Amino acid sequence: MNLTIYNTLTRKKEVFKPINEPNVGLYVCGPTVYGDPHLGHARPAITFDILFRLLKHLDYKVRYVRNVTDVGHLESDADEGEDKIAKKARLDQLEPMEIAQRYTIRYHDAMKMLNTLPPSIEPRASGHIIEQIELIKKILKNGFAYESNGSIYFDVEKYHEKYNYGKLSGRVIEDMISSTRKLDGQDEKRNSIDFALWKKANPEHIMRWPSPWSIGFPGWHLECSAMSTKYLGEPFDIHGGGMDLVFPHHECEIAQSVAANGKEAVRYWMHNNMITINGQKMGKSLGNFITLEELFEGNHKMLTQAYSPMTIKLFILQAHYRSTLDFSNEALQAAEKGLSRLFAAARLLTKIKPSANSTVNVNELWEKAYTALCDDLNSPIALATIFDWVRIINSLSEGKETITQADLKTLKSTFNTLVFDILGLANEQLADTKHTNLAGNLMEMILNIRLQAKANKDFATSDKIRDDLAKLGVTVKDRKDGFDWEI
Ligand code: ZN
Repeated sequence: MNLTIYNTLTRKKEVFKPINEPNVGLYVCGPTVYGDPHLGHARPAITFDILFRLLKHLDYKVRYVRNVTDVGHLESDADEGEDKIAKKARLDQLEPMEIAQRYTIRYHDAMKMLNTLPPSIEPRASGHIIEQIELIKKILKNGFAYESNGSIYFDVEKYHEKYNYGKLSGRVIEDMISSTRKLDGQDEKRNSIDFALWKKANPEHIMRWPSPWSIGFPGWHLECSAMSTKYLGEPFDIHGGGMDLVFPHHECEIAQSVAANGKEAVRYWMHNNMITINGQKMGKSLGNFITLEELFEGNHKMLTQAYSPMTIKLFILQAHYRSTLDFSNEALQAAEKGLSRLFAAARLLTKIKPSANSTVNVNELWEKAYTALCDDLNSPIALATIFDWVRIINSLSEGKETITQADLKTLKSTFNTLVFDILGLANEQLADTKHTNLAGNLMEMILNIRLQAKANKDFATSDKIRDDLAKLGVTVKDRKDGFDWEI
């Protein structure tokens, strides 16, 4: 089946054709690791996880690269303010790399709870300073950057004379110039829309590296240009990220690649839309900033309860990734109900008895749902189809519809492939039951060994088992007909 994806650059849906079939290069902008992962991190991670899973299902060999920004992301997009990680390090009196490490681990934990697959490579900006310096040298050599007081800036106007700055975001360069503040003559930049490729470090700036121009640090946009092409080649297939990164981050990435190599590095640009909370943009100043941990624990004044990672995931997948998505308790509670119906259907499927003939057409589920997913990741249509089948599975279990052995086998594998393999919804309840059953069986096994030891008058062993279990918080009660236990 063909996969079509909406390309932000051409503003239309295109049939996906890999540059070097069967290999596919996928690059997604990862987190700047200076705070707890929040709702805004969940949507791109889940969107591109589905893409990664679907591409693999389509038999492509996918290299999925997602970076970790641990240097160079300043507080303001206008190359001003402190480095976000250095600032957090200063406030917490820690090394910047301790901050990066702490929040990278928290990000990974949250992504694992959301059951997203880890990327093939997860490069860090601070580990690729040499590559970034080499890229700056190329851009300087081609005349699209200039040095100013030890810093290097990208010359946007000069670039725009030959190429098209604004092609991705649709912004017009004249408007951008008039809407940014006027330079006062003291500024290092020639033009307010120029952006930093290298910044000379102030004496108080902690993260610093030597370069031909000064001791300093790279501009934020540079890392993704350098690392994507290092690991995926040039050009590569798909570059993804949140819509908030289209400008300036991705616009600048395009300019950097074209200025360095005379050609674009990316074939398809994909962007997920933003999340709002009760209709408002999420922001620390608005008091509606919710971390994933707060969501999973229900620990935020805007939340009436906790929501499981899979509830969040199902909720995100019920909207198309290019639509806005509004979070509210009501919407999340509806998703929670949907999730338990979905998992109940998965359990029912294992118990349905086959009949001599089928009154349902099992091929319909795969055809409709898979076609929708291959149509620019239309997860809401795929899920609507899956929920139609949740109803059908209920009818089958009640005997209102019938299914043959062969059809049942097809239905089980289709349902599981769609729900668990491609949409990546892990069955939290099933996993729990599995663990509970295993623990129960292990207890029976251990206590039977103890019973045998007692029968053999080996009281040392039987007492040891009882005492060791007590240390684990398990109380064993001897009964005439055997044993009982409780935690
Ligand atoms: Zn990036």
